Amino acid sequence: MEFSILADSFNKMESTRKRLELTQFLVELFEKTPQEVISKIVYLLQGKLRPDFEGIELGVAEKLAIRAISKSSGIPTKKIEEEYRKSGDLGHAASTILKQKTQTTFLVEDITVERVYETLFKIAKLEGSRSQDMKMKYISSLLNDANPLEASYILKILLGTLRLGIAENTVMDALAIAFSGNKDNRKILEHAYNVSSDLGKVAETIVTKGLEGIEKFGIILFNPIRPMLADRVKSEEEAIEKMGSEFASEYKLDGERVQLHVEGEKVVLFSRSLEKITNYYPDIIEKIPKSIQADNVILEAEAVAINENTGEFLPFQELMHRRRKYKIEKAVTQYPITVNFFDILYCNGKSCLELNYNDRREKLEKIVKENDFAKHIPMTIVKNQNDIENFLENSINAGSEGLMLKMLDKPYQAGSRGSYWLKLKREYQNELGDSLDLVVIGGFFGKGRRTGSYGTLLLATYDEDKDTFTSICKVGTGFSDESLDQLYQILHPKVTIKKNPRIDSEMEADVWFEPELVIEVVASEITLSPIHKAVRDKIRKNAGLALRFPKFTGKIRFEKAAEDASTNEEVITLFKGQKKIAHGKNLI
Ligand code: ATP
Repeated sequence: MEFSILADSFNKMESTRKRLELTQFLVELFEKTPQEVISKIVYLLQGKLRPDFEGIELGVAEKLAIRAISKSSGIPTKKIEEEYRKSGDLGHAASTILKQKTQTTFLVEDITVERVYETLFKIAKLEGSRSQDMKMKYISSLLNDANPLEASYILKILLGTLRLGIAENTVMDALAIAFSGNKDNRKILEHAYNVSSDLGKVAETIVTKGLEGIEKFGIILFNPIRPMLADRVKSEEEAIEKMGSEFASEYKLDGERVQLHVEGEKVVLFSRSLEKITNYYPDIIEKIPKSIQADNVILEAEAVAINENTGEFLPFQELMHRRRKYKIEKAVTQYPITVNFFDILYCNGKSCLELNYNDRREKLEKIVKENDFAKHIPMTIVKNQNDIENFLENSINAGSEGLMLKMLDKPYQAGSRGSYWLKLKREYQNELGDSLDLVVIGGFFGKGRRTGSYGTLLLATYDEDKDTFTSICKVGTGFSDESLDQLYQILHPKVTIKKNPRIDSEMEADVWFEPELVIEVVASEITLSPIHKAVRDKIRKNAGLALRFPKFTGKIRFEKAAEDASTNEEVITLFKGQKKIAHGKNLI
């Protein structure tokens, strides 16, 4: 398939944010796509080469790309940098430069999607001392044969700046329309995606095996399943109202969610955002197989740092000391954990997703043998408010965040945040209650004690409809010297020359960051705001929502991608909930 077809589609898609239009462009593209390249096209649309969980990163630095453009165009790097500074987009700059060049030279040969994909794959796999030179060679060979538009997209994919704003659901809508003639079949595709986390494979299956193939799509061991998430409730009353007369109540431990795939001695771990995290937990790899009484399983657990002497659960931050590439063995002994199992998704070659909670829990207790390291998460069946209050009290005393409430007769709904699971945190019961996970989009340099760090950060929610990050507050409190330092180290490499187009903010920050890091904040209230862009025009015309008195809780949510941050929908729910309290008897 000619790469120019894909480049033209990218170009059209970049010009719109409207979901219907995007879907239409995608359908047109899929209809032109031969079977054997469909999965590649689906990955490339998302700026990837393979599903996220395989961890294949292109990782090409701007400097290297500039050298490659220079090599293939004969134009000095200085001139390219100048053009880049003007447009803020290297893909765009390359296209302008190559346009000048193509007026004087001939194009050599058409490039195909297959060739671009394979070359990018080779680049991603290169390692070692000579890799930089080899990467440059590969890039410039592609650029040599690319027309300006193609070159601009090749560079965007290489640099990770291709942002078409296409949500997975939109891709699935388009696949359903193009290959089954009916958008409603998206639901079937969605199930396949939820159990495989691999949209390319889903696309390939519908193209080669039709809907029948998709319906048969099952769990594949060592491919992560998209996690089931919980809705929040603010009080025991609300929980009873939503859950009925009898339900399970588990500790909500404050650690890292881990999805464990185990077969014999082989163990692979995935984080909440389905990143492979096997390397951070050598202790799990070593100890867990001994506790498992099955040939193969997929389990979910919360890994929690503990005080070894008292067995007490420690806060999430402690665990984050393990997020390092080197000397992990030392971190393992310094920050010991327990693994607290709460679900079983697959066992001895069969899915457990369709089993109800009761049956899953029973199976889990049978399959995972408890010891000092592997535990079943504390659970009890509750029937009334009093039961919840007592269990909540116990859980908080043990160092947990609150409770997870789960319906007894319901299956595991992969990939969805539904009402079968609810979370009740202690702090929900006062003020705004819930914490928010926000994306750091901008920074302001600190003064005085904070010189040399970002004293204040500009934060954003995720707008799912537009796939943008909308500003909601500035936060300057809650930072320790240590956290300011840590944040600076993390954020400094994310500074961009130009504001990322997915950032929606009218503020003037000192620096803009790639919207990637998620941190947790609490606030006293949500108010209407003339400046901030979160929930703009939805509650009131020309107003957005902002957090009042926001405070950093000290938690950097490394395990969350920017798209997993609190959404504008969630902020609307909190805003409305807060109004209800204000009108009712809970008025402070
Ligand atoms: P939060 O910010 O509250 O952690 P989240 O968006 O990460 O929320 P939710 O589904 O809203 O995800 O909350 C569930 C999270 O709580 C899980 O991702 C998991 O890490 C953690 N957790 C702790 N204990 C349990 C439990 N018993 N059952 C399920 N999840 C648990």
